[in-house]
Amino acid sequence: MSHEGIRFVDKEHAERESAENRPLPRIAVTPEKVRVLLTEGKGLEIDWQDGHRSAWTFAWLRAACPCATCVDDREAAGLNPGETKSEPAQPLQLFKAPPRPTDVKPVGHYAVSFSWNDGHSSGIYSWDYLRRVCQCSECTAHTAAGQ
Ligand SMILES: [Zn+2]
Ligand SMILES: [Zn+2]
Repeated sequence: MSHEGIRFVDKEHAERESAENRPLPRIAVTPEKVRVLLTEGKGLEIDWQDGHRSAWTFAWLRAACPCATCVDDREAAGLNPGETKSEPAQPLQLFKAPPRPTDVKPVGHYAVSFSWNDGHSSGIYSWDYLRRVCQCSECTAHTAAGQ
C-alpha cells in the first residue's frame, strides 16, 4: 500500500512539474491590452491575444512577487504565489497600507515591473508568469483540479 502510494504521489508531482514548464502558445502570453488600474487602486488587467482575460488585485500581485527573495520566502513558508501568511490576532495592530504600486514600468517587450509602496521593486512579472498565475475562475478551477 505504501509503495503504491509513494509511486502515485511521485507521478502526480512529475506531471504537475511538466505542466508548469510546458511552453504556452505565443498568443497566450502576448498581451493585446494591459490596463493598470492605478488611480482606482484596483489592480492589473490583461487581455491576451488568444482572447483570454486576466485580472489580479495589487495585493495579490505583491504577494506573488517573482523575485528570488520573495520566491524563497514563500517556499520557506509553504505559500503559493499570491498567498500571504495569516497574521495572528494581536491586541496591538499596526496599520499597514494595502499594497499598491507607486510606479509601473514595462520591461522590454516581455514583462512589467512594479515599485511597491513598501519600497520593494525587484520583481519582474513576465507575461508568461502572469498568464500562468491567471486568477480567473476558469484557470483557478483548472489549477485546483490538477492538485
Ligand atoms: Zn520580491
Ligand atoms: Zn484565466
